[in-house]
Amino acid sequence: MTHTSNGKGLSFAKRIYLPRILGKAMGLLAVTAALLPLASPNWVWALMLINGLLWPHLAYRWATHSSQPYHAEQRNLVVDSVMAGFWAAAVHFNPLPSLTILSMVTMNNVAAGGRSLVQRGLLAQLGGVALGMGLLGPHVQLHATDLQVYASLPMLTLYPMALGWVSFQLATHLAEHKRRLSDLSRTDSLTGLFNHGYWKDRLSRKFLLCQDRRGAAVIALIDIDHFKAINDTYGHVVGDRVLRHLSKELKQSLRETDLAGRYGGDEFCVIFAQTTQEQACLAMERLRERAANYSNPHFPALRISLSIGLSAFRDDFCGPEQWLEDADRALYHAKRQGRDRVDVAPAALTGLRLAWPE
Ligand code: GH3
Ligand code: MG
Repeated sequence: MTHTSNGKGLSFAKRIYLPRILGKAMGLLAVTAALLPLASPNWVWALMLINGLLWPHLAYRWATHSSQPYHAEQRNLVVDSVMAGFWAAAVHFNPLPSLTILSMVTMNNVAAGGRSLVQRGLLAQLGGVALGMGLLGPHVQLHATDLQVYASLPMLTLYPMALGWVSFQLATHLAEHKRRLSDLSRTDSLTGLFNHGYWKDRLSRKFLLCQDRRGAAVIALIDIDHFKAINDTYGHVVGDRVLRHLSKELKQSLRETDLAGRYGGDEFCVIFAQTTQEQACLAMERLRERAANYSNPHFPALRISLSIGLSAFRDDFCGPEQWLEDADRALYHAKRQGRDRVDVAPAALTGLRLAWPE
């Protein structure tokens, strides 16, 4: 896994900051109780205080001031593993505090870096054990006092809860990201309507539903008349404003169950669910009239009109493409008949593939 983005590394360092403060404080408690009966040199106590109280803040500063916070934080986690190994040796492998510290650090490594960090962490723990035994001698103390048991309990109980909480927050955050990405992937950025790909997916689904349940659905293709001339006369910014205005009108004139999309360019598309051709025709006539009433105070001469082709689902359609072609033919017919109108494909055109007029 590569995480080179600074933003991601920074949030990683921030996410780990509080759990590390808590974990180190609880580790300090467990190690203190285990060191008490041992004649450890003063520097070990000093190191314990530094590691338990100061290190989380140093690690955070180190990571957040680094040009690659993610990598710096991975190094910090390896330092945590070295220190866990060292403390296991320093408490003479007293089973409860040693295993508590080693397993909590390993749990951190699993959560933060998966298998590769666990492997590096285990090596680092072994290194820490070797360091501790080299500096303090090889001692083994397998008996734990009551105090040592109680002093290990906070870390055993509270730390997993803290880590669980962090994981939960991360999962919630990711779910939100996923939802936003999924919204983006199906939305047309200019108009906020469904984009071509998503609308066609929905058309395919609607086609299957209609086939199975013989439901009544109608599709509409809506095209702005002479839109190129609007762009040429008023500029593309005004053209974009017209497209957005029309999308708003379209959304307002549809029901929750109808699906409006931008088919591309100046062409829009709608799936009317459980609607007859007459009802869809009425809705599109209303839209056509609203578009005709469009007025822009800055450009009083700017007018828009729409040509709209309708196609009601028919059992003899082989697939959604054929349904769409029928709506396309209806739109073509509306253009040919003089534009600014709602049409269905005349029987004479059904079954023919026709080219768009120049
Ligand atoms: P017709 O009545 O036959 O539909 O004529 P038309 O001029 O509307 O048809 P044509 O397909 O030639 O023109 C569509 C224009 O839409 C051409 C293109 O520059 C413009 N267009 C496509 N996408 C956008 C867009 O996102 N913003 C703007 N402003 N214009 C766009
Ligand atoms: Mg057009």
